[in-house]
Amino acid sequence: MSTQQPLIFQDIDEPGLHTLEVYKRRGGYGDRLRKALQLPPEALVEELKASGLRGRGGAGFSMGMKASFMPKGTMDKYLVCNADESEPGTFKDRELMQKIPHLLIEGMIIAAHAAGANRAFIFIRGEYVQQADILDAALVEAYEAGFLGENILGTGHTLSLAVHRGAGAYICGEETGLLDSLEGKRGNPRLKPPFPANQGLYQGPTLINNVETLATVPLIVEMGGAEYAKIGAEGSTGTKLISISGNVKRPGNYEIELGMSSRDIIYGLAGGPDDGREVKFWFPGGSSSPVLTADDLDLAYDFNTLAKAGSMLGSGAIIVVDDSNSVVDVCLWLAEFYRHESCGKCTPCREGTNWTVKMLERIQSGLATPMDLDIMASVQEQIIGNCLCVLGDAMAMPVGSMVAKFRGEFEAHIEAARAKLGIADDPADAPELALIEGAFA
Ligand code: SF4
Repeated sequence: MSTQQPLIFQDIDEPGLHTLEVYKRRGGYGDRLRKALQLPPEALVEELKASGLRGRGGAGFSMGMKASFMPKGTMDKYLVCNADESEPGTFKDRELMQKIPHLLIEGMIIAAHAAGANRAFIFIRGEYVQQADILDAALVEAYEAGFLGENILGTGHTLSLAVHRGAGAYICGEETGLLDSLEGKRGNPRLKPPFPANQGLYQGPTLINNVETLATVPLIVEMGGAEYAKIGAEGSTGTKLISISGNVKRPGNYEIELGMSSRDIIYGLAGGPDDGREVKFWFPGGSSSPVLTADDLDLAYDFNTLAKAGSMLGSGAIIVVDDSNSVVDVCLWLAEFYRHESCGKCTPCREGTNWTVKMLERIQSGLATPMDLDIMASVQEQIIGNCLCVLGDAMAMPVGSMVAKFRGEFEAHIEAARAKLGIADDPADAPELALIEGAFA
């Protein structure tokens, strides 16, 4: 088990922590903010690089590097917080914004200074009504206290910050789809390059970071980047908020030190599956991460180890599936979600998600043969790396991993479903299959 004390979630349940009064009493908007605003932006970026902080939203890219891509000059620059937390299984940012909104705002003031931005937005998913209201109230407090607006703390630094509520589309969590939506357009991903650091919001240089990433910035300034980098594992520094859901006794959000054993998280913190049940497989980083099995429970929970194991840490959302569940059901549920959320802009994703759902429905209904599994695996291979954004891969990677790791169960399901329909094992002996398939199509 980790011995690291929580950094972000320290005393998270303290009454009134969401108010400016309690937040300030705990050191918020204090010396660290003043220190950060007095540093040159380049020094702040170096501090972020030294911390080794990697993005907490899914991609895991170095925050310091990302900030360093912002061009110099006096043009309008923007900071955008991606609070469109829509990945199934992920709900850590919701708790953070609800219980300690000023930590995010303070992080954005510092990050905006590092990026040279004087306009910032929090793009929050439409369903987070309560959290958006809390953020709005916190912004009023921060403006009234002089932490936002002109000449913050007398340093000459200016920042305007507003909350923008999304309309509830998963694709707006993709950074360029988010920018289009923020500009008032339909939230479609853009072709990259150009990347947002060069042409982002309103075509201006834009730094986009996740809620947890930005909320970590004040803590890094307070501790110093080098000190922060001592926490965690090599290549995965610091602590991480994780959301655990699915078949566990104690689902919820936890803050862990990166590098902790996955078994200690799933069984130690979350209590594991119900008595008499075993972990069958688990998504280590949200529903878009390739699944791992019970054999992988002793892996260290960090970016590099999970990548080496063929999956990813993603948003830090662990979904546990126990042995009472059918892998076919989970696969279909997942594919239906991504088909529904595909924006339809590029063919591999639009058609691939639809065909995957259709093939899984055939498997469910008894109209498939084992050959369909090869076709389905091949469809996933053709999606991966061939889409405009990561949504296509987000379906293809977990579906492909489930078919590869549980092929025997898929085959048994096909056989049982066909027997139920009274269809022969060999498709060549089943002319009725062609007729049924024709009707199904
Ligand atoms: Fe749209 Fe899917 Fe293409 Fe992304 S991968 S742009 S969601 S169609």
